[in-house]
Amino acid sequence: MDRNAFLKNTALLAAGSLFFRQQALAAMFGRPAGTVRMLRNNVGIFTERGGTIGFCLDRGGVLAIDSQFPDTAAHFIEEIRKQSQAPFAYLLNTHHHGDHSGGNIAFKGLAGKVLAHQNAAANMRAVAEKAKTLEKQLLPDTTFDRKTRIRLGDEKLRGHYFGAAHTNGDAVYHFRKANIAHVGDLVFNRRHPFVDRAYGANMTHWIEVLNDIHKEFDNDTLFIFGHAAEGYEVTGSRADVLAFRDYLQRVLDFTRQEIAAGRTKEEFLKNTAIPGVTEWKGDGIVRPLTAAWDELTAGK
Ligand SMILES: [Zn+2]
Ligand SMILES: [Zn+2]
Repeated sequence: MDRNAFLKNTALLAAGSLFFRQQALAAMFGRPAGTVRMLRNNVGIFTERGGTIGFCLDRGGVLAIDSQFPDTAAHFIEEIRKQSQAPFAYLLNTHHHGDHSGGNIAFKGLAGKVLAHQNAAANMRAVAEKAKTLEKQLLPDTTFDRKTRIRLGDEKLRGHYFGAAHTNGDAVYHFRKANIAHVGDLVFNRRHPFVDRAYGANMTHWIEVLNDIHKEFDNDTLFIFGHAAEGYEVTGSRADVLAFRDYLQRVLDFTRQEIAAGRTKEEFLKNTAIPGVTEWKGDGIVRPLTAAWDELTAGK
């Protein structure tokens, strides 16, 4: 081996061993390293554990949407710091759930403004008060009702609220220039959803919300979803939004039929499939079935 080839191989080995060392460290701490993926312009996503984090990098500031958990939020901040030293101008929450807002605390003293829909902010406070963990939560300092606008350098962001769906406080954030919409848990891509009836979820209205989202955006809009099933993307198109709408409709139709057929709730919850639904499989079917049953039998 000549000297140049030797040096090259040594460099490769060193790079390789660093990579393997990182993998080994990640495995030792029981986590895969978080992944950053740029989507369009200066907008990207971070995935590790919990709801997908969206972000926008601008020379003047960084904007983040959702925060996962305290440990993964710290990894996210670490990754962003490799690309930008700009201050975190905004932290936005799509809704109050812990896998989307539990990491807010990692932005304490870092985020200029923390924003969410007014119901999401109230829910965050209620959950933290109940669990006596208020000091571990960074609550929104700014809220909105129907619409809000944010400017970050060249990018213009709009926040929308379409009413009760996955909770009673689900916001959609749209990067207008990049034409990317973060819909949080309003879409579970090919995965059975959580339906938080205790915090105002409504499956019937969720379908209306998905119709409104379809109307508001266009075929070029790239969507960021909170969650996807194994083997599916946490990003997608309007067609994926409609596929999830049709899934919810089938869950409700099936539940209505079963109630009309005189089934008991216990019998109904033994179902392992929903007629006409082929892409939503695996664990968690009992969650939408329970929610649909409770919603359709409420007050009866
Ligand atoms: Zn979630
Ligand atoms: Zn959620």
